[in-house]
Amino acid sequence: MEQPSAISRINAASRRDIIKLLLAGGMAAAVGSAPPARAAALRTGARIVIVGGGAAGLTAASRLARQLDGANILMIEPSGAHIYQPGLTLVGAGVWQIGQLLERTERFVAAGVRWLQASVTAFEPENNRIVLSTGARESYDFLIVATGCTLNYDGIAGMETALIGREGIGSIYAGPDAARATYSAMAAFVEKGGIGLFGRPATDIKCAGAPLKMTLIADDLMTTAGTRGKAKLIYNAHDANVFSVPLVARKVEDLFAARGIAINRAHVLTAIDPVGRRATYRTPGGEVTMDYDFIHVVPPMSAPRVLVESALAWQDGAFKGWLEVDRATLRHRRYPNVFGIGDVNGVPKGKTAASVKWQAPVAIDNLVRIIAGGEPTESYNGYTSCPLVTGIGKAMLVEFDYENRLVPSFPFIDPLTEHWLAWVIEEKMLQPTYMAMLRGRT
Ligand SMILES: Cc1cc2nc3c(=O)[nH]c(=O)nc-3n(C[C@H](O)[C@H](O)[C@H](O)COP(=O)(O)OP(=O)(O)OC[C@H]3O[C@@H](n4cnc5c(N)ncnc54)[C@H](O)[C@@H]3O)c2cc1C
Repeated sequence: MEQPSAISRINAASRRDIIKLLLAGGMAAAVGSAPPARAAALRTGARIVIVGGGAAGLTAASRLARQLDGANILMIEPSGAHIYQPGLTLVGAGVWQIGQLLERTERFVAAGVRWLQASVTAFEPENNRIVLSTGARESYDFLIVATGCTLNYDGIAGMETALIGREGIGSIYAGPDAARATYSAMAAFVEKGGIGLFGRPATDIKCAGAPLKMTLIADDLMTTAGTRGKAKLIYNAHDANVFSVPLVARKVEDLFAARGIAINRAHVLTAIDPVGRRATYRTPGGEVTMDYDFIHVVPPMSAPRVLVESALAWQDGAFKGWLEVDRATLRHRRYPNVFGIGDVNGVPKGKTAASVKWQAPVAIDNLVRIIAGGEPTESYNGYTSCPLVTGIGKAMLVEFDYENRLVPSFPFIDPLTEHWLAWVIEEKMLQPTYMAMLRGRT
């Protein structure tokens, strides 16, 4: 039997107190009554362009608007809708409704920031210029790239987003409707049983915990429904590890073993046959085809093509195609007036919204120092966090850095133990904290 953790020994009254304390913290961050104390805004006429107005772009814009006085800040973002992506897993689990994920971008655009609803179609860093989908060109003194990543479903033969929710196919990554459709497909599987396939692609992906969460959620839903005995669940890891942080990988493997979830290593999904319900994997021993009743597809991901094809991308090496920033200062390694924040960065860790919360102050403070005539002094340590949902009502609050060290924010929560409290943080606290982040208040 599992050892009782410190938290599980706490009595019910104390639990209530802890939740109140945490929620109070979350709410304080949400309303942002007291933005972090800052030096007086720097007076400048600098022209700053931010490409992308998702989690990273909006956060960057809010921080710049507060830290600079007189700057010309332009944010380019095509979408009027802002999606709270970390909530996609909760919709896929059937716990949240789609409406809980949707916001309007304009609600988070700080005063003093000009938002242009368009896309960037070319970067011209040699000329300090970008080209817009409108055909216009914009010049800048400083550029922040925050375009996030692109989902390449077409990297899996036979797969298209229209299939999500049909033929036993789920994929929460494709957006709120897809997450809802994933839950429908999974609910049918939970009822009937059969073979459930899970896994992730070989590329870097945002929220690398989500494929594991979906596996454990399926197991939990079936256990609750009393149908687990009718199903075989298989996790197809893309390489030798189920997760890149060894301590976490071992814990997940233990959880999978305890719950009877099989693991295949070095299996990369290459094709889907929706009619025959068969999935094909590339393995070191050649192609392997598996039947399924339900499959959760996670597409290969890359930086948006416009970035991949630009001089701003790493031209070689492990991060080829992602933005070539210094992993500590987040400043471009070849174009010193360019910074990157968020999923687009070609760094070893950090494709989560939690990473944006840590990257944005580093990149923006360094940029402001440069505008003031100084040099970057702030460093990002690779902080990445993922409340690894292990079932409805329980999660592990996993936080780590570039060196794969666990860096827990809450000393009273063991990061490698399933907790109701980590679930409360995932379900109740992260969204208000995220919204406060977009407003530059945390
Ligand atoms: C299923 C799922 C679960 C997740 N779970 C978690 C979690 O539990 N915890 C966590 O911390 N994170 C989680 N994340 C990850 C988190 O949502 C991302 O890491 C975060 O949104 C990254 O912010 P970003 O600004 O880099 O990218 P995004 O928020 O995706 O924003 C990028 C923006 O750039 C814009 N853009 C793209 N190309 C162009 C262009 N050419 N011109 C102009 N604009 C452009 C896009 O329209 C988009 O709005 C999850 C993500 C998913 C999909």
